[in-house]
Amino acid sequence: MEKIPDFIDFLLENDIEVSPFVDICYSPSRGYHVLLSPDVKNSLARNTPLAHVPKSAVLSASSSVLCNLLSEDHHRSLAGLVLAYLMERKLGNRSPWSRYLDMLPSREESCLRFWDQEEQEWIRETDAADILRAADEDLVEMYNTVAAPFFESQKAIVRATIGENVSWDNFTSKKTFADAVSVVAARCFEIDAFIGLGLCPIADLFNHSDHEDVHFETRFEVCEWCGNNDTCEHDAQALREAAGENDNGFESDDSGPLMIEDGHNDEFNDITVDDDDDSDYDKDTCDIVVHRRIAFSRQGFVQRTREIFNSYGPLSSAQLLVKYGFAIRRNAHDYLSLEREMRALYREEGIPWHRLIDGDNYVNGDANMEHVDQDEWEDVSEGEESEGEESEGEESEGEESEGEESEGEESTEHDHGDSHHKASPEEGGEGELKIEMSGRINFHLWDRLVLYCVRTGGSPSPSAYHEILRVFNSAPSSLANRLSGTSRSIIETLVVLLSRRWDRYPDGGILSAEYDYVISQEVASRELTDRESRKRNALIVLANEKEMLELAKMRCNKALGISIRQKLYI
Ligand SMILES: [Zn+2]
Repeated sequence: MEKIPDFIDFLLENDIEVSPFVDICYSPSRGYHVLLSPDVKNSLARNTPLAHVPKSAVLSASSSVLCNLLSEDHHRSLAGLVLAYLMERKLGNRSPWSRYLDMLPSREESCLRFWDQEEQEWIRETDAADILRAADEDLVEMYNTVAAPFFESQKAIVRATIGENVSWDNFTSKKTFADAVSVVAARCFEIDAFIGLGLCPIADLFNHSDHEDVHFETRFEVCEWCGNNDTCEHDAQALREAAGENDNGFESDDSGPLMIEDGHNDEFNDITVDDDDDSDYDKDTCDIVVHRRIAFSRQGFVQRTREIFNSYGPLSSAQLLVKYGFAIRRNAHDYLSLEREMRALYREEGIPWHRLIDGDNYVNGDANMEHVDQDEWEDVSEGEESEGEESEGEESEGEESEGEESEGEESTEHDHGDSHHKASPEEGGEGELKIEMSGRINFHLWDRLVLYCVRTGGSPSPSAYHEILRVFNSAPSSLANRLSGTSRSIIETLVVLLSRRWDRYPDGGILSAEYDYVISQEVASRELTDRESRKRNALIVLANEKEMLELAKMRCNKALGISIRQKLYI
């Protein structure tokens, strides 16, 4: 498995620069990962570049042999990239990326999709099981709508490209495609408006942490037709289109630039204005840049190894388990969905589900309810969070306790152009009704609760919206006795949801602390087998979900003035 020397040659030949501050390492249990070089004597400051990868070295549908075979519509998509990867991989040494592709596994064995039936039982009734079901549906859809038609329509030329001796049925099977998706989805990045998704050598070797050290940065806003990041021949055309659009209202022209994300087409209007004096901004590279100071630590004379982490995005443990095959205990981005329970309550009361939220628009017109929108909710929630009335002491266990200093850098991410996580199409879950790692409830859940209580006969006081916000999410006990009837019934409804969610687990009510005990027993000094490490990840997902339910229940008890020492669930 020692493929690093060939990979280093590949990096050199493709002008991929890697800082001497980092070492690329391999171990059987950890796979490839990146360590801080033992030669580094001082901390690495924020914005220190650790790697520059020319965009020309990125493997994407448009840079691969697939370029002219695949319909333009799919060039930037995951399906297009997976097909490009399959083709290049089959080319073997004839692919310019062969020494990079040789390092990749044939599939991500630890992903939840590849667990056997007994192993999947471990996560039954967790959010991971639901997320896997949705991901499987996406996979089938991607195969049926993009891959299969592509293989069908391009059979002759694809066969000629990959070689007649390749088994066609095997190469084009759903299983081969699913394996490839696991490899590609776990390491692709969103590169820019022209390339879309791509595989970026070296950038994908950094492992994930919810307290990451580095960010992946590229300039996203480039010409969508040619990838040029400065002026190009399409500028005039784009300006004409923009002007034409103003004249003709919304009439769209099929030959116009695709609007990948809202707002990006605005760039065409001031494309000649260099709005950033940072010279790095003009570079046509994908960069790995230090996001927060990387400290190193010595114990006695022995310097400990220090892995350098990226973030694959604000993903929950259940999402991480499905996509990457690992989970993080007390992951800062964890959440638990209560949607199924909430929907069941609505059904039982005959309240239509669809009336509340229509896309981003609040359409519920219940009288007397003071309108609070999502921004307001988040402002208040965050404001209260920063007062630190409850120190959760969240720490991702074991991974990094070197005492990095927070440099107060939050919300200033875009120093060198856009910073992108590994691309996660299923990320987000924006409209989900959920509780978070701290046991707080999110806007959508709270909104549904309010409507439910109003519809089931609660008397809506105009201040109920604000009251529940203050009482539940910050839970000062002094307010507990002054709850209005509506607020009280909202919290009591939440208690019902929490209990129903709790009862879904087929584990007889094991507490998070009990799962923690089992997890800590599992952390022996010996290396875990694949099966043991799957079990451990399943237990972590369960422990996280149980803990969220416990914390939410405690908040409810506190708000209702119930003694905390009463048993959590019975
Ligand atoms: Zn152009």
